[in-house]
Amino acid sequence: MTTIAFLGLGHMGGPMAANLVKAGHRVIGFDMMPAALEAAAAAGIEVVASGQDAVRSVGSGGVVFTMFPSGRHVIDAYRGTETEPGLLAVAAPGTLFVDSSTIAVDEARAAHALAEAAGHRSLDAPVSGGVVGAENATLAFMVGGGDADFAEALPLLETMGRRIVHCGGAGLGQAAKICNNMILGISQIAVAEAFVLGERLGLTHQALFDVASNASGQSWALTTNCPVPGPVPTSPANRDYQPGFAGTLMSKDLGLAEQAIDLTGVDAKLGLMAHEIYKEFAAGAGAGQDFSGIINTVRAQSTPAPDQLSSSMVREGAA
Ligand code: NAD
Repeated sequence: MTTIAFLGLGHMGGPMAANLVKAGHRVIGFDMMPAALEAAAAAGIEVVASGQDAVRSVGSGGVVFTMFPSGRHVIDAYRGTETEPGLLAVAAPGTLFVDSSTIAVDEARAAHALAEAAGHRSLDAPVSGGVVGAENATLAFMVGGGDADFAEALPLLETMGRRIVHCGGAGLGQAAKICNNMILGISQIAVAEAFVLGERLGLTHQALFDVASNASGQSWALTTNCPVPGPVPTSPANRDYQPGFAGTLMSKDLGLAEQAIDLTGVDAKLGLMAHEIYKEFAAGAGAGQDFSGIINTVRAQSTPAPDQLSSSMVREGAA
């Protein structure tokens, strides 16, 4: 049994911490939201009054997990403020900090550096698999940090996830996460554009699916997250685009990819364009939708309608 402080008990952190309790670990938790604390207490997590109290309670040999909305939250919590000590300052020497939030690669590296300077050890361990994966302990973890620290965290990660990949040193878990999600964002837009083009050309959704899903156009965005209802009955398109993976989260992850693109100077035109497209989607119609709902934006912004197109072609042909 390991004693664990788990901070950030929201949509993801709450069920992840509950799975650690189910596996027999002692989990001391904190979140700023009373509703999150209530749910955590019901799941057997020992709720305390602050993050610092949780970290103090684990003592030496414990592990501290964070699952926060952004990198700012992680750095601020590690560092503390003028009036409040940070988590690093109150932890027993050599404590292992595992941050599972999705944050920028340079923020993750800064968090590692802060932990090391304070005499602690750390891993970046972002996840994919969403709330369902957090609840069912089927998350994928992408981990950055040292070999010994990874080995120590592995049994805990295995109680919350199914696929755990050690991607390399500090920040490389976050790097793997944003590279994967950049592929995903671009390919979901590509699949949406192909379906709308197919519609305009008179192709049924099923016919395009039957061809592309068995040909070189095959991708997760098509065969699992198919953006039209019918061909894949479990995809969000069949339930009015309820997430799934929300467009707002895709926009956030593509923003982190853009930060990394700026940092490295890579000529990633499609990644940058995908960010623009999802930023607009998340700010408008797609706010509460799965990111596959981008197909409705493609459809709405497409002109002219097919009958106008065919009549103009007839006119041009006649001229
Ligand atoms: P959430 O907003 O539901 O949960 C985050 C929680 O952190 C909130 O309850 C907030 O009160 C708490 N928090 C913030 N600062 C804190 C502090 N200093 N101390 C204690 N608690 C604090 O968000 P979520 O959906 O659980 O996502 C968490 C992270 O996981 C994000 O970085 C997100 O990008 C990533 N992620 C989410 C999903 C998903 O499907 N929701 C999937 C993969 C990755």
